[in-house]
Amino acid sequence: MPLVKSVRVGKHPDHTRFVMEISDQVNFQISMLADPYRVVVDFPEMGWQLRDGANPPMYGELSGFRYGLFKTGTSRIVLDAKAPVKIKDTFMLPPRGHVKNWRFVMDLVKTDRSTFMALMKPAAYPSQEVAQNNGSQTATSPVQQARVPAMLPPQKPEKKSKHVVVIDAGHGGVDPGASGVSGIYEKHITLAIARQLADVLKRTGRYKVVLTRDRDVFIPLRERTAIARRAGADLFLSLHADTFHDRSVRGASVYTLSERASSKEAQALAERENKADLIAGVDLSSTTDDLSFILLDMAQRDTKNQSSKFAETLVKDLSGAGSVLHNPHRFAGFAVLKAPDVPAVLIELGFLSNKRDERSLRSKTHRAKIAESIKTSINRYFNRVEEANRS
Ligand SMILES: [Zn+2]
Repeated sequence: MPLVKSVRVGKHPDHTRFVMEISDQVNFQISMLADPYRVVVDFPEMGWQLRDGANPPMYGELSGFRYGLFKTGTSRIVLDAKAPVKIKDTFMLPPRGHVKNWRFVMDLVKTDRSTFMALMKPAAYPSQEVAQNNGSQTATSPVQQARVPAMLPPQKPEKKSKHVVVIDAGHGGVDPGASGVSGIYEKHITLAIARQLADVLKRTGRYKVVLTRDRDVFIPLRERTAIARRAGADLFLSLHADTFHDRSVRGASVYTLSERASSKEAQALAERENKADLIAGVDLSSTTDDLSFILLDMAQRDTKNQSSKFAETLVKDLSGAGSVLHNPHRFAGFAVLKAPDVPAVLIELGFLSNKRDERSLRSKTHRAKIAESIKTSINRYFNRVEEANRS
């Protein structure tokens, strides 16, 4: 697998140059996205030898850089541009002199919005294929799978011996989520705790556990809910860790779906979390919001009640494992919670902007404590469900 060794941005008098050192020569495909302006480059799957949070300083027309696995077989970089840009030149330089790696080079210049919009059309930048095919895969991508309508009736098995719990590790791949005070990414914290929680749940023998992702890969938001519905989920937990400008703020909180946010902060948080697809450079221009829903629907009202009951239990149990925010059960319009028939919560495990919270979340021992407390809540929740079914 090709390895990405380094990334840098340089400001030249008439252009901005982006350079990425890669161990091998690779194919690439460039596309542009507007609102905000982004340049997206897809490569075959590559390994990344860049440190978490160690992003290159940005110059010229560029303001941000993200990288990671977009889907099996495709690694992606997303560059944020301050203004409309066009690509003056792209090429791969072979190793030469003291530079032992290949270099992917892309030169950008400022342009106007109408030129940029014209360049967004497919095939404005034809893909560059290298002579030898280095085995990029064509497996069904998560994005293609996501086209499965999210509103299909659930495929619930007739008789289930186990409750199905779907654990969703927030973010992943080209969407790193928040970054902590030490530079660690939210996507790595959420995956670590998702795996630990899956283990403790499986050990009870009571649950079938499904993870929306088990590696560092991007999964679109609507695909996460689709996975839950395909699995016939009885409960859905989305795991996250927040940041806040006030670094003294710490503690966990639990969110359930509501068309009206419980506070401005909750609303802002949902807006941040709902941007995951945009962060990853997914073209959202052609997708309609088929996650819009009718809250008067009886099934959905029942789902909301179940979600709230679980959230109330959860905030109590979580407070035993560490600090929780005041009013720890909050509401907002999170896209990932919008499956109409699956009780669902989103857990913000703590604040990566707070030193103590971040240290706790990086500790396997502390994460085990959190996983235990979540397991206790899940047990309590299903005890009540079973009791209600018996009576
Ligand atoms: Zn998040």
